[in-house]
Amino acid sequence: MSFKPANNIQDLQHFGEFGGVNPSISDSATYTFLSAKKMFDTFEGKAEGCYLYSRHSSPSNLYLGEAIAAMEGTEMAHVTASGMGAITPVMFQICGAGDHMVSSRTIYGGTYAFLKNFAPRLNINTSFVDITKPEVVEAAITKNTKMIYCESVSNPLLEIANIAELSKIAKKHHIKLVVDNTFSPLTLSPAKLGADVVIHSLTKFINGTNDTVGGVICSTTEFINQLRSVNDGACMLLGSTMDSLRAASIMKNLRTLHLRVKQHSKNAKYLAEKFEQDGLKTVYPGLESHPSNDLYKRMINDEFGFGGMMTIDVGSLDKANELMELMQNNNLGYLAVSLGFYKTLFSAPGSSTSSEIPEEEQKEMGLSDGLIRFSIGLDDDIERTYQMMNQCMKQLHILS
Ligand code: PLP
Repeated sequence: MSFKPANNIQDLQHFGEFGGVNPSISDSATYTFLSAKKMFDTFEGKAEGCYLYSRHSSPSNLYLGEAIAAMEGTEMAHVTASGMGAITPVMFQICGAGDHMVSSRTIYGGTYAFLKNFAPRLNINTSFVDITKPEVVEAAITKNTKMIYCESVSNPLLEIANIAELSKIAKKHHIKLVVDNTFSPLTLSPAKLGADVVIHSLTKFINGTNDTVGGVICSTTEFINQLRSVNDGACMLLGSTMDSLRAASIMKNLRTLHLRVKQHSKNAKYLAEKFEQDGLKTVYPGLESHPSNDLYKRMINDEFGFGGMMTIDVGSLDKANELMELMQNNNLGYLAVSLGFYKTLFSAPGSSTSSEIPEEEQKEMGLSDGLIRFSIGLDDDIERTYQMMNQCMKQLHILS
């Protein structure tokens, strides 16, 4: 039977203290114990179901973690204060001084900056490779390598990682495969394809309302417990803890994720096909022209489509800026970083979310000046949106 991530979320049941249809929100930083022994046992991890202190865990955070673990098909999940607050503890838990990682070179700019500029201060070094070439990934592994890191659909170039292939390589070398699945929740289930750790920035599609940052780490019970260890757990000790009130609010938004992803995907596919027909250089994993279209089709949970992210290249940064300003003035979307909102968001990654990547490296990886990244919104009438975008492009002579 195929994996049904949305059913897995809906099958969960947690009632509030007074029979509420939403679980009660845990509004406490610390918890009382009826006996000193119980407190000691809890510290030692020997008292099931007892809470100690909310930086470690809290009921609301556990509910959200449980729902996202069900969605990703992992044993457990741990929610964090941001996507970066999920990514960095995972790296520190797996790698120490002298260790090495192999990472995709096309990843979110913040993650890239962390690996390139921050981790080397702690003598953790990274080789950046073309993730679409598994043989190149394998060749970069050294005796000190502890993990392969990639995004399932990369930010901003929308390159697709062959997760099953990468997982085979990771297993062969006894190292972990860590996948950031932020661009493709529900659409892709990396753990089902062999990833050891799946990360999301909840800030994006999963929360979907752009009212908070948040993150999550999905993995085995063993790995999540390591992250939470009071003695040497990177989540516990680095302290990127999500607030319980926020966890409860993200939980409510998560329940409509399946509807939103389907609409984002439907709209993005419509626009990508139209833009490509108009002669624009368009990248979308659902287009046959995408180099990994076949691979992506084989990997996805079909009913959720190809996702809401696409790029076009309009030739120069000036043209890209003009177009984005004009589209914003016509209320077709917002000139803003981030993604997964009800409204379309657009930005030029070379000068925004990927600006941490030096210019010559941007060129090498194919990140051109005129690239615009779109996170397509939930527009009810996408045909009208297309017509209006087309008018903007004609007005600026991007299209004749
Ligand atoms: N991963 C990806 C793919 C992202 O696009 C981002 C943010 O843009 C992050 C991680 C970081 O997430 P956050 O901003 O929630 O820390």
